[in-house]
Amino acid sequence: MKKLNFERPIIKKLNVGISNKFGLKTEFEPITHIDDISVKDLIKDYGSPLFVISENTIRNTVQEAKRAFETRYPKVQFAWSYKTNYLNAVCNVFHQEGSWAEVVSRFEYDKALENGMEGSKIIFNGPDKSEDDLITATNNGSLIHIDHFDELYTLIEIAANTEKKPKVAIRVNMDTGVYPTWDRFGFNYENGEAWEAINRIMLSKKLDMVGLHTHIGTFMLTASAYEIAATKLADLAHNIKRKYGKTISYIDMGGGFASANTLKGSYLMGSDTSPSFDDYAEAISHALISSQLDPEEMPLLILETGRALIDDAGSLLGTVIANKKLSDGRRSTIMNFGVNILFTAFWYEHQINPTKEFSQHSETTTLYGPLCMNIDQIRDSISLPPLKRGDNVVVSRIGAYNMTQWMQFITLRPKVVLIDIKGHVHVIRNNETNKNVTMLETVPNHLKKIK
Ligand SMILES: *Cc1c(COP(=O)(O)O)cnc(C)c1O
Repeated sequence: MKKLNFERPIIKKLNVGISNKFGLKTEFEPITHIDDISVKDLIKDYGSPLFVISENTIRNTVQEAKRAFETRYPKVQFAWSYKTNYLNAVCNVFHQEGSWAEVVSRFEYDKALENGMEGSKIIFNGPDKSEDDLITATNNGSLIHIDHFDELYTLIEIAANTEKKPKVAIRVNMDTGVYPTWDRFGFNYENGEAWEAINRIMLSKKLDMVGLHTHIGTFMLTASAYEIAATKLADLAHNIKRKYGKTISYIDMGGGFASANTLKGSYLMGSDTSPSFDDYAEAISHALISSQLDPEEMPLLILETGRALIDDAGSLLGTVIANKKLSDGRRSTIMNFGVNILFTAFWYEHQINPTKEFSQHSETTTLYGPLCMNIDQIRDSISLPPLKRGDNVVVSRIGAYNMTQWMQFITLRPKVVLIDIKGHVHVIRNNETNKNVTMLETVPNHLKKIK
């Protein structure tokens, strides 16, 4: 018999089938399939780690959000927030569902055009639009959301030399009772700056003032903040009508709806605390319908919801690399994915499930990623069955921001697959290779040889 390795014994608490006051934890339940495709097969065919996107979940979620708004307000338009997940296949699911494109950079703007979006259905947000960006957007009839006075003046100059009148809105920031306020984007409502920007636009006669925009924050846990914001935008629209006789065609309430993820340090599960689409829709439509706006000329309501529409549709499959004991005896588990590809681990206590049945015995462990970086921690403390090297897990609700904010640090990014509504699996982004990562590098002649 082979001699066994000595392992220092430790005493640990056993949590057998223990439940908190809200019932059994869901993290012991294995996730064996995603949309009827076996997780084991996905890893066998496409590797680990692996991002998996469910087309079915995207479509169901966006339809559910549309229903919530369309049953309460006469004219509704969604615009897909590219920065939340701009894989082309994902964007086109949203576009097929009728969403326009909402972009915050020229890179994203060009991506939307390349995806086949008409220029007039692209909303161009963000503080950084060059003169060339503004000219291109004007010529394409896109909706330009002005962020600051320098942009406004540049646009007025551009308009003097182009045939087309730029279609503009201003981004408005305001006090909605949620702090800190996001006051670095757009023009402030309370100090009169937003009204001043509107007057400058109207008096210039060179720009077509078509809308008003706000984006009050992200992961907003109070629907009532949107009621305050919509009331303030409706007031501005009403004042524009009164002073200039001009009817604003749309009010854009931005995004920021919370997904069902659990924020770090939160006592309750996100699925219990996040408002529903119905809650947000009720707050916004109530404000608009109760406002001074002419009922015959109600503006189109645009929503740029990102996170809440895609988080549920994304999963990350991964594998245990090793188990270790920390100096104080606590268990820690190293996974083959870290904050490099799971950026949202900084904000969320992600739900992580094993992929096969275990006994109800569980152990508290700290989950680390594979990076040589102390901050590479996925969960500070999670109760999981005792996973071994090679066991797989599924991280749920990771569709938002991870596939845009991921970084290529010491390793290569994995594949992303989409499961379509018929259950076919498609690679929608291939894994990186050394070759494509170093493709943009050049080594000067004198450095080509080491000796
Ligand atoms: C990021 C962003 C969105 C989407 O925000 P979510 O919090 O993901 O819903 C919408 N509009 C603008 C202007 C944004 O910057």
